Order: sequence, then C-alpha cells, then structure tokens
Amino acid sequence: MFCKFCGKEIADDAVVCVHCGRAVKPQQEEEKSNPAKTLAILGFVFSFLFALVGLILSIIALNKYKKQEDQSCKGLATAGLIISIVSMALVVIVYIYVFSIAGAYANAISSLL
Ligand SMILES: [Zn+2]
Repeated sequence: MFCKFCGKEIADDAVVCVHCGRAVKPQQEEEKSNPAKTLAILGFVFSFLFALVGLILSIIALNKYKKQEDQSCKGLATAGLIISIVSMALVVIVYIYVFSIAGAYANAISSLL
C-alpha cells in the first residue's frame, strides 16, 4: 500500500510509515463503521417483524453496498429483501383468504335472511 501522508510505498501491514514516520494505522480502517452492514442486519431482523420496514432497509443496504468495498453481510441484506417480499406476499394471501371466507359467510347469512 501507499502512505496516505507522503505517498511512498510501504508494507501492507505497516503501522508507521518508514519514510515520513507517521502512523498509518491500517487496523483502524478495518474497524471503520460499515453502514450497509448495520442496515443489512436491521433489514433482516425487521423482515420478520415489519416486512415493509425490512424491505426498505434491505433495499437501502443493497444500494449502499454498491458504493463501498466492504461487502460483509451482503447476503443478509439479500435474505432480508427476499424474506420481506415473501412475508408481504403471505400477508396479502392471508387477507384475500380471510376476506373471501368473510364474503362467503356474508352471502350465506344474507341468503338465510
Ligand atoms: Zn509516509
């Protein structure tokens, strides 16, 4: 890698630049927060609780992954997206099912009256 201060080439695992003596701290970059990862985890959790929130968070997470190198937990965002869609589809199916039964009951009752 290259020193971010003087631009000279240094060892990839260097903590201090041998040319200018400044701390380059590569380990700090690894600890850098990954907003896409946080969103992916939240999206995954919410996909079970609130499908719509999970869907939105997962889409935002996947968009953020496109703009960054760190791809950790990207699978979680994809899973959150799929689970959100599936659970929303299930909710729609259940609603249709419940309303069709309610409609059938209403018809049966009205025919009795
Ligand atoms: Zn340097």
